[in-house]
Amino acid sequence: MLEERKDILISGASIAGLTMAYWLYKYGYKVTVIEIANAPRKGGSPIDIKGDAVGVVRKMNIYDAITKKKVTTENVCFVNDKDKIIASMNPSIMDDKIGEDIEIQREFLVNILYEEVKDSVNFIFEDTIIKIENNSDNAIVHFKKKKSEAFHLVIGADGLHSNVRKLVFGKEETFSNYYGMYAGVVDIEIDENRKNNCILYNTSGKMAGIYNFNNKANAILVFHSKEQIIYDYKNTKEQKEVLNKMFFNEGWKVPLILQKFNESETLYFDAVSQIKMDNWSKNRVVLIGDAAYCASFLTGRGASLAVLGAYTLAEAIKDSEENYSEAFQKYQKRFEPIANKAQSSIKAGALFLVPKTGISKLIRNLLVKTLVPLINILRK
Ligand SMILES: Cc1cc2nc3c(=O)[nH]c(=O)nc-3n(C[C@H](O)[C@H](O)[C@H](O)COP(=O)(O)OP(=O)(O)OC[C@H]3O[C@@H](n4cnc5c(N)ncnc54)[C@H](O)[C@@H]3O)c2cc1C
Repeated sequence: MLEERKDILISGASIAGLTMAYWLYKYGYKVTVIEIANAPRKGGSPIDIKGDAVGVVRKMNIYDAITKKKVTTENVCFVNDKDKIIASMNPSIMDDKIGEDIEIQREFLVNILYEEVKDSVNFIFEDTIIKIENNSDNAIVHFKKKKSEAFHLVIGADGLHSNVRKLVFGKEETFSNYYGMYAGVVDIEIDENRKNNCILYNTSGKMAGIYNFNNKANAILVFHSKEQIIYDYKNTKEQKEVLNKMFFNEGWKVPLILQKFNESETLYFDAVSQIKMDNWSKNRVVLIGDAAYCASFLTGRGASLAVLGAYTLAEAIKDSEENYSEAFQKYQKRFEPIANKAQSSIKAGALFLVPKTGISKLIRNLLVKTLVPLINILRK
């Protein structure tokens, strides 16, 4: 434990920010988390805790709580426009360690993390940082509503469109690599006959899906778009317009799914992009999670990177004896290969979930029918 507690500010109360808050508090720091929303944000489809991230949640003693809420997807089924199953597979084939990796609804994981830290960490909701004076020995932070304050360190855990990254490192366009796709997620009624099954429907370059878990369901829309679409990413009305334009003429259950998007205020919609930066830190400011190395949902690695990255940085800070630039370098050196590997799996995810042509869809379905059972046998 440090003799003197040091104030650290984290921007973003989601998976990366809350994990970071947990570890820094444990290591004796005084932690403040600022979140632009009025509470930790809900919504989103289930996410995976994979590989070494499982070890981190075990160390946090939340593995059992997560397991209690876990989603078990029995099958991913590809259907035609008559809702007939053409091919299906058990998704555990993609686990790092079968039986160890956990899938959980995003908001449940956020809740579990929030419960762990809410009494020990200072939370500021509905505010945002507007300026950071990033000095060599402290960071003076100016807020939109709250009075300015000096912090020992500032950690940007504020996602793909990170505010801290923009204020300290530069424009989003410099670091964001658009991957030619968009994705949306919204709540929908569960199909009781298809509990724990993820049903996916493809037309060329587009995917619609209904992901039924134990007690609720998400609808998903994904599409390829070579050009980036101009819209305000914070404006849900504009997000809905984009989806309606892309899917207005599609079959299967797409009209119902579009209706759910149109009625929702908590939908999630974003471009599929990755963040690539040479440096994740500058003076007293450092980035974690999607803010630094967003891999995108197509890799299924975002939450694991957020948990593991936060833990790696916390360990480096703990061991740093206040030589923070060395701690940040250690963090990047240890974690960059892991983030790069996760990011590189995006192509396979895109081709698999959203084939661009009718032929590639046929090949995908054929592979699911033939190769997947073979891999399952080999992995046993
Ligand atoms: C509501 C929501 C739904 C999502 N749904 C999915 C999904 O369906 N599938 C998927 O793969 N990924 C989804 N994601 C992204 C996923 O959570 C991340 O890819 C991954 O878990 C890494 O988490 P993160 O903590 O780095 O970033 P995020 O989970 O994106 O969290 C960033 C946090 O920072 C906050 N924030 C943003 N701007 C500011 C600001 N100016 N000041 C303070 N706080 C700010 C956000 O409100 C959010 O709480 C979703 C994210 C959110 C916020």
